[in-house]
Amino acid sequence: MEKVIIGIDLGGTNLRIGAVSKDNHLENFSKISSAVIADAEKPIEKICEIIEEYKEKNHLEQLEAISIGVPSSVENDKETIICTTNIRNRHGKVVFQNINIARELRDYFKVPVFVNNDVNNILLYDIAANHLENQKIVVGIYIGTGVGAAVSIDGQLLEGKNGAELDLGHIPYYGGDEKCSCGKEGCCECYASGWKLQKIRREYYPEDKIQDLFIKHSEEQPLQEFIRGCANVYAIMATIFNPDSIIVGGGVPEMEAFPRRQFEKAVNAGTGADVMSYGFDYVYSRDYAGKGVIGAAIFARRRMKEMAQSLA
Ligand SMILES: [Zn+2]
Repeated sequence: MEKVIIGIDLGGTNLRIGAVSKDNHLENFSKISSAVIADAEKPIEKICEIIEEYKEKNHLEQLEAISIGVPSSVENDKETIICTTNIRNRHGKVVFQNINIARELRDYFKVPVFVNNDVNNILLYDIAANHLENQKIVVGIYIGTGVGAAVSIDGQLLEGKNGAELDLGHIPYYGGDEKCSCGKEGCCECYASGWKLQKIRREYYPEDKIQDLFIKHSEEQPLQEFIRGCANVYAIMATIFNPDSIIVGGGVPEMEAFPRRQFEKAVNAGTGADVMSYGFDYVYSRDYAGKGVIGAAIFARRRMKEMAQSLA
C-alpha cells in the first residue's frame, strides 16, 4: 500500500482532513466542526485523537507525514502558530497563540509533522493545479471573511524574519477611517472583505442573500465601490512584485457572477505603468473544498525534499 500524507485544513469554522497520495490525489475527504478542537480542554491532544480516529476508520497504516494549515501566521520553524485570531473557544479566548503544535503530534505518530499558514498552502495548490511551477513570481491574494496573501518567488514561498509577513488585510488604506477588528483604523479589510460585503448587504440590500449580490447589483454604486476596494490591494501587490501571474481567490471572488472584467479593469488602472507595460496573467482559484488539504500535502513534500537535500 502506498504511503500517504494526512493533510488538514484547520479553518475558523471547519476542519477538513484527507489522505493525499504522491500524485496529489485526495481520498477519504471529510470535515468536522473546528469547535470540537476549540472547545476541547487540551486542543492539541484533540487533534491527535481526530487523526488517530481518521487513520483507523480509513485503514491508513502507512503514513508519510502529517501537514496542517492554520488560519494564522506560522513561525519559520513551520511548527509554531503565532495567533489564531479566528479560532476561539466558547469563552472567546484564542485557542493557539505562540505555541508549537507539531512536537506533540510528532511524538505521538512518529512521522514528520508540518504546520503552515493556510493561504500559503492554498497558493501551493493553485500553482500545482494551474501548472505555474516554472514562473518566477506568483502572487496569490484571497479575499474571504478577511484577506490573506502568499507570494512564490523562484519556487520559494516568501518568508519574513519571523513568519508574520504579508498581513495584507491590515495594510492601511490611505484616508480610511473605518474601525478594524485589529484595533487600527482604515485597514484593507475594512473595505475589501466578506465582512465589508455583509455590511453593504445589511445597509443597502437587506432583502437579498449575500450570494445574490453580484448577480443582482453589480452595476450599482455600493458594489462598484466595493470592487474598486478589492482591486486596490491587487494593484498594490502587482506594482510591488511585477508578477507572472496573480491568483484571485477566496470566498468573495469565487462567488457567482463576481464581475471579473470590471475587477481586472480596476486592477490594471491602479497598477504602476512599468509593471503594466509587461502585464501579467489573472488566474482564478476555483471554489473547491479540498484545496487546503492537498496544498498542505504539497507543502510537506517540499519540506521533506529540502530536508533530504540539506542532509545530502
Ligand atoms: Zn486591521
